[in-house]
Amino acid sequence: MNYDSPREIKSILGVLGIRLKKKWGQNFLINRGARRKIISLLDPQKDDLVWEIGPGLGSLTHELLSLTGRLLCFELDRGLLAYLQETFAANENFILIPGDVLKTWKDTADKYGIPERVVGNLPYSSASAIMAALVENNCLPSRMIFTVQKELAQRMTAPVGNKNYSSFSILCQFAFSICSHGDLKPGSFFPVPQVTSTIIELQPRKDIALPRDRPLFLALLKSLFVSRRKTIRNNLLAGWAATRFRQDILLKALELSHIDPGIRGEELPVEAFIRLADNLQRLG
Ligand code: SAM
Repeated sequence: MNYDSPREIKSILGVLGIRLKKKWGQNFLINRGARRKIISLLDPQKDDLVWEIGPGLGSLTHELLSLTGRLLCFELDRGLLAYLQETFAANENFILIPGDVLKTWKDTADKYGIPERVVGNLPYSSASAIMAALVENNCLPSRMIFTVQKELAQRMTAPVGNKNYSSFSILCQFAFSICSHGDLKPGSFFPVPQVTSTIIELQPRKDIALPRDRPLFLALLKSLFVSRRKTIRNNLLAGWAATRFRQDILLKALELSHIDPGIRGEELPVEAFIRLADNLQRLG
């Protein structure tokens, strides 16, 4: 099929009796140049295990199947699942994982292993939840290429001090180096969404050590942003950390981490969060 033709897409959806749902972010990428760019950035190798999140009608899928080893596709729309199955099932490298990726990815990773590459023009509604689930569970493929809403990409890549820097920035950045590869105008999609999208690349960080105790790091991160206006010291002494560590240990950990207790979480670089979590783990 011609994946660049809204008319053809509309007609296939009509034949299949599929009505697109906004809540599932069903905006198909009809920009051939953008698809080429995504696949070239992904750079899948012959032996790779690749995941595609939300294949839709398969505009990336059919290219990917000619380039890589196994391709696992996560899709939840029944109509699209039937179409994908019929179109690609003859290829023995194609495996369809039906259902909500947020519910199916863990079992899939247990069964097939962590993929080398992950790609997806992610549904706007669940992109941040998908990202968080992967990071929090230490699923760190060697390269991920996603299309996400521009504002989300800005939060993911924001440096400390930037207005978009938040706990979500730290969550993404402690595990991944993230770079943006340019915006896609709404007209690159059908139906045309109301937002601009950005292509982003994520690779596991090699320049800093991961926190020694990941659950502790994640709980600490959440707790230090509970009240954004409060200082680090006050959030530490009044929040989750105080239920787990004595006050003198909390203050000592701040000191050993060279963190000014008077600043707020949004002023603290990722490396300082990791230092604080590691010092708490050591002292606690
Ligand atoms: N990859 C196709 C393309 O670029 O043309 C479609 C991308 S469309 C933005 C997002 C796709 O993700 C849709 O096919 C939608 O049905 C699917 N989807 C949405 N939420 C999902 C979820 N929680 N789990 C699995 N698939 C999901």
